[in-house]
Amino acid sequence: MRVKVLGSAAGGGFPQWNCGCPNCCGVRDGAIKARPRTQAQVAVSSDPSQWFLLNASPDLRQQILAAPELSVTSSALGSPISTILLTSADVDCVMGLLHLREFHPLHIYSTLSVKRILTEENSLFRVLTRSNPPVRWSTLSFDSLIPLTPPSSPGAKDGFFFKAVPLLGGFPDYVSDSLKGSLPSEEAVIGLQLVHKEKRFFYAPSLLGLGEDLQRSVEESDLALLDGTFWKDDELIAAKRSRRTARDMGHLPLWGERGMLKRPFRPGKTKRVLIHINNTNPVLNEESPERLAVREAGWEIAYDGMEFEL
Ligand SMILES: [Zn+2]
Repeated sequence: MRVKVLGSAAGGGFPQWNCGCPNCCGVRDGAIKARPRTQAQVAVSSDPSQWFLLNASPDLRQQILAAPELSVTSSALGSPISTILLTSADVDCVMGLLHLREFHPLHIYSTLSVKRILTEENSLFRVLTRSNPPVRWSTLSFDSLIPLTPPSSPGAKDGFFFKAVPLLGGFPDYVSDSLKGSLPSEEAVIGLQLVHKEKRFFYAPSLLGLGEDLQRSVEESDLALLDGTFWKDDELIAAKRSRRTARDMGHLPLWGERGMLKRPFRPGKTKRVLIHINNTNPVLNEESPERLAVREAGWEIAYDGMEFEL
């Protein structure tokens, strides 16, 4: 299995267009050692002719153009992209679907709630039904592994299997109260475990807590890309960018009491990597003490173009 990080920042990217925080100013004028990043996007594949997208970021068009593996090489072969798995209905996870609208038949996997949010309340996404055949939605169920086979080779034996893992988290602010009230909360935010042969990859770019079940999902995986959005719970309040804490926004902070870096992961086979890094997070500065603390706690930090072969 190949896992390719096409984008590694949280919503807004790094630098964020309207942000004057020390990180964003520092990367713009070269005063800090840091890489610019596009918004979180991951693609996985076991066969060069087929790539699965995990979410569809607002930067998706640019990210596809920057990845030769994902480009169209002939009109006969077409695009290696047709299947997208969504972890939530957040703007950062779904806006890129609109980049894929060019009459291309798509297969989208999401929870029923995410499908309802996008198809019942947001008529813009009806643009995806113009393809022939129109977009196909499959709703995710929890806990059991199901095959993820491309339409070109249904029933392929060496394909991917995957399961959705319910995570704590809320529905996006833009969803109406009336629809929100009718949706089961466990369908708001999920993690994805993808399995190919003996290898497991766990993806959870938004994560509010890490219970025992979830910790087990991470520890049984060969690779885990997890929520690294904020360093501190009050990060955006201190930066005067929001009145909400990291936890209010559905993200377990890295530092502080019960933070992600404090979790006692079993040392073992799992490569643990932080993704979805907000532009205010001091770990983006490669010479910061926070960056060193991440490394000392056994984590890596994702960057655009990072790749894993499992
Ligand atoms: Zn910033």
